[in-house]
Amino acid sequence: MNFIQTRGNTEGFEEEVPFSHAILNPSASFGGLYVPKTLPKIDSAFIEENKDITYRDLARKILNMFEIDIDQKVIDEALSLYEKFDDSVDTAPVVKIEDDLFVNELYHGPTRAFKDMALQPFGYILSNLAQKIDKKYLILAATSGDTGPATLESFANKANIQVACLYPQGGTSDVQRLQMVTEDAPNLKVIGIKGNFDDAQSALKSLLASDTFKAKLQENHISLSAANSVNFGRIIFQIIYHIKSYFSLLSQGEIALGEKIYITVPSGNFGNALGAYYAKKMGIPIEKILITSNANNVLADLVNKGEYDIRERKLILTNSPAMDILKSSNVERVLFDKFGAARTKEMMDDLQKNNYYHLSKEELNLLQEDFAAIDTDDSYGLSVIKKYAQKGYVMDPHTATCLKAYEELKNKDLKMVICSTAEWTKFAPTMLMALEENDEKKSDLEALKKISKTLNIPITPSVNALFEKDIIHDKVVEKDAIESEILDFIQA
Ligand SMILES: *Cc1c(COP(=O)(O)O)cnc(C)c1O
Repeated sequence: MNFIQTRGNTEGFEEEVPFSHAILNPSASFGGLYVPKTLPKIDSAFIEENKDITYRDLARKILNMFEIDIDQKVIDEALSLYEKFDDSVDTAPVVKIEDDLFVNELYHGPTRAFKDMALQPFGYILSNLAQKIDKKYLILAATSGDTGPATLESFANKANIQVACLYPQGGTSDVQRLQMVTEDAPNLKVIGIKGNFDDAQSALKSLLASDTFKAKLQENHISLSAANSVNFGRIIFQIIYHIKSYFSLLSQGEIALGEKIYITVPSGNFGNALGAYYAKKMGIPIEKILITSNANNVLADLVNKGEYDIRERKLILTNSPAMDILKSSNVERVLFDKFGAARTKEMMDDLQKNNYYHLSKEELNLLQEDFAAIDTDDSYGLSVIKKYAQKGYVMDPHTATCLKAYEELKNKDLKMVICSTAEWTKFAPTMLMALEENDEKKSDLEALKKISKTLNIPITPSVNALFEKDIIHDKVVEKDAIESEILDFIQA
């Protein structure tokens, strides 16, 4: 199946490209994104027949439906990486926490965040493609916490790919930082930046605009690719777990075939929610996709008011840092799907120029056919964490935002699945604040130990081990030193 572009087609770009092209070169005409030309369909016979299927077998079937230009052997090898997850059969367990509420636990992979679900197989496929065409790629990542570890873990020791990852010093949890700076592979470079996440991101942007940098890349025959969710290679794997959650409910006898469900997604860059949207379009009976935002509630405003407005906004740092985002890339793919390329380009141009775009009344109605959204604040999240811990279920601060959708947006008597995007161990100081109801922030290690003892739950061994590992990447630099750091790395 071929891929087309969200902002239409211009000179220098093919109108349609195969999957391999779209993932090696994820930037499309006019700065747009690649999307599948059509989506495969899943009917109720397929659901019925496969309801007890394992995660990997379902993934294999879905990928085959997309008819991507990747050898079956490579797909199978990529999917075998799910063996690194806690349970290689039940990769993403769906757990009941209320009569009508279920948690899709997506964090059982190597870095304890849902990003492993896509990045593990994606990294394998990208490296394989690069080897096949005998080209070298550099992946640049700026991270506020979870993308960095999952990207590094995905590409460690993978041929033909180098990764340079920037993180804001003091801007991530200890666990997240240790997951990055202890990652030991010659093709990985991790650099701390004096500044916040915005600084890391803008450093990366100026790097991409630098002529000396581009010239050096060319000289060394290195191309740039991307591993964030602008890359459809991430999204395709994020459709699968939403589909699987429906199959799991059916298999557990919690729903009847054809019964609709709600899916709730704690959203940032909207990749996860987009996966649910595609699953719905493919035929999974989803009543609506419910989006939760934190205090950076651009997405909630878009879905509720039809306005994407970041003119007056400043990024607010919250307890759910992976959702602290103002420009949410994947909304564009939904806009394209609903309103077409010309209109999408118009809105994205407005966003670029004026930090603003808005939908017409009719457009907003169309968006609301599939989505509803609500925002939360930190105190709400803390109270949810405490309430459920007392009931015996431990959830991280991102997952906790989803309860607001359960309480306020679920207006039909249907079951709901919320996506749990991280394990509590990544955000232990916040967890402890919630449990002890105070605002004294302890260190990660102290908080991990205390929570483990109080709630009588184990600290995940790989997280515990981080505190004993050697630090491999100890560089913390000023913004203007980044270019030379990365050039030294790629030429080494
Ligand atoms: C990345 C991330 C999110 C946001 O996911 P998007 O697909 O970017 O919307 C939410 N929670 C956690 C823990 C994450 O790591």
